[in-house]
Amino acid sequence: MNLFDRPQSAGAALLACAIFCLDAFTRDDLAVAGLYVLVPLIAASGGGGRRRAVLGWSTACAGLAIAGFLIFQARGAPPLAFAHLGISLVVLLVMTLLLLRTQAMSSAVERGERRYRSIFDTLASAIWEHDFTEVVDAISRLRASGVEDLRRYVVEHPEFVAEMRRLVRITDVNATGLALMGVPSKEAFHSRLSELLPETDESFADCIVALDERRSLFETETTVYTLAGSRRDIFVTFSLGPEACLDKVPGSILDVTDRKALEAQVLRTREELAEAQRSGALAAMSASIAHELNQPLSAIHSYADAARRWMARMPPDMHEAMAALTGLSQAIGHARTVMHRVRSLVGNARIRSADIDLGELLSTTVTLMRADAAETSTRLVLMRGRWRDLAVSGDRILLKQVFVNLVTNAIQAMAEVPPECRTVTVKIDVEDGATALVRVADRGPGWEDAEEKVFGSFYTTKPAGMGLGLSISRTTVERHGGSIALGRAPGGGALVEVRLPLAGAGPSVADGVGDGQVEQVAVDGLVQ
Ligand code: ADP
Repeated sequence: MNLFDRPQSAGAALLACAIFCLDAFTRDDLAVAGLYVLVPLIAASGGGGRRRAVLGWSTACAGLAIAGFLIFQARGAPPLAFAHLGISLVVLLVMTLLLLRTQAMSSAVERGERRYRSIFDTLASAIWEHDFTEVVDAISRLRASGVEDLRRYVVEHPEFVAEMRRLVRITDVNATGLALMGVPSKEAFHSRLSELLPETDESFADCIVALDERRSLFETETTVYTLAGSRRDIFVTFSLGPEACLDKVPGSILDVTDRKALEAQVLRTREELAEAQRSGALAAMSASIAHELNQPLSAIHSYADAARRWMARMPPDMHEAMAALTGLSQAIGHARTVMHRVRSLVGNARIRSADIDLGELLSTTVTLMRADAAETSTRLVLMRGRWRDLAVSGDRILLKQVFVNLVTNAIQAMAEVPPECRTVTVKIDVEDGATALVRVADRGPGWEDAEEKVFGSFYTTKPAGMGLGLSISRTTVERHGGSIALGRAPGGGALVEVRLPLAGAGPSVADGVGDGQVEQVAVDGLVQ
C-alpha cells in the first residue's frame, strides 16, 4: 500500500511529521503525542482502502510516539512523560478502533447500495423510482386545512389528483423500464409521473390514499403510453410503509398487455365456441323437426293422392275417398301437434340474455348470406345509417337465425325476377329513441296472402318449404320483447319490419354519416 497516494495521505504524513518534531524536540511536559489521533482521522477520509490506511497510519503514529518519547527521554524527560505516552497510545488505539468500526458500517451500507443498484439495473421487471415527498407535504397541508375524509376528497376533486400526479418526480429507471417505455436513455425518460400516466388515469387517486395511510403495499393496474404512442397495460406495486424512504420509492412495473390480450382472446374463443355449440344444437334441432314432420307430410301426400284417385274413379268410390280424407285430416293433426311442440320448445327455450351490437349482428348475417346471394346473383345491401352502438338485449344465436331466415326468404322470393333487379336491403333505424327497427326489403312479388296467414305454421308456397321460418321468427322476436310486421317495399316487393327494444345507454349518432349511407354491400359473394 502506498500511504501517500492521495492528498489526505500527504496531509496525514505532514501532520505526523509536525507532531513528531513537536513531541521529540520542542516540548517539555506537554502530551503532544495525543495529537497523533488526528492522523488516522485525516487518512480515513481518503476513500477506498481506508481500513488499511487507518491501520497503517495508526501503527506509524504509535511508532512515532514511542520514538519521540525515547528521544525526549534521552534529553531528560520529566517523570510524567511516560504516563503521557501511555495515554496518547490508548487514545490512539480507541480512535483507531472507532474508525475501523465506522468504516465497517459504511462499507456494509455501500455494499447494500451497490447490491440494490445492481438488482435495480439488471432486474427483468421494469422499475422506476418515485419521489413522493411533495405529494406527502401537499396531503399534510390538505389535512391541516381541515379535510378529514381524503378518500371522498380525491373522488370529488379530480383536479387535486391531477396536481398530485404532477408533483411526483421520477428519479430513476432501470433498463427494463426504459425498454418497456421505448425510451433510449435515462436522461430522456419522463421526469414527472403526469407525463407517464394519461389524464384519464384513475389509479393515482387510490395511491394518494395509500400514501396517506402509509400502506405497506399498494398495487394497482393502469395504462401508460410508450414514446412511440402504443398503449401498455401495466400492474404497479409500491411499498409505502412507514419504513419506506418517500424520496426513493421504487415502483415495480409488470407489463400485462399481452396477458390481457390473451385473456380477451380466450374469452372470445370461449364465446365463439359456445355460439358454435348452440348453432350446432339449433341445426340438430332443425334436422330433428324436419325428420318429425317428414312422416305426417308424406302421409298427407299419400292420402291426398289416394283420395284424388278414389274420386277420379267412374263411379267415384266415395267411401274410400272419405277414408283417405280422414287419414289426411289425422296426418294434418299429427303435423300440427309436432308444430305445437316445436313452438312451445322455442317459446320456452331459455334466452341467453346478453347485450348484442345489432349493427355487428346484421353485418355478420350479411356476411353469412354471401354465398347464397352469390349463387342467385343477388345484391345484398346493409344500411346502418348514422346509428352507432345499437345494443339490444337477448340471445345472439336466436336473433341471428331470425335475420338469416328473413334474408333467405327475400333471396328465394326473387327467383323469378331478372338477375339485375335482385336486391335485398337490410336497413337499421331507431324509433322513438328506444326501439331498434330493422327493415328487410326485396324486389320480389311481395306478399300473396294476409299477414296472419303468412305467419301461420305450415304456411308455405314453396315446393320444398316447411312454412316454419316466419312462425318461429315471430315467436323469437316476441320473446325478446319486440314485434315483427309485414309491409310493402317501395318497389312492390316484400318488406319485413322487426322492432326490438334498445338496451343500455341508447344509440349514438355517428358524425358525418348520412341516413342512407351504405355500410356494406355484398355482390356475388364479395363484400365491397
Ligand atoms: P318457408 O320459407 O319454409 O316457406 P316461411 O315461414 O319462412 O317458410 O315462409 C312462409 C311463406 O311466406 C313462404 O313460403 C312464402 O310464400 C312467404 N314469404 C316469405 N318471405 C317472403 C318474401 N320475402 N316475399 C314473398 N313471400 C314471402
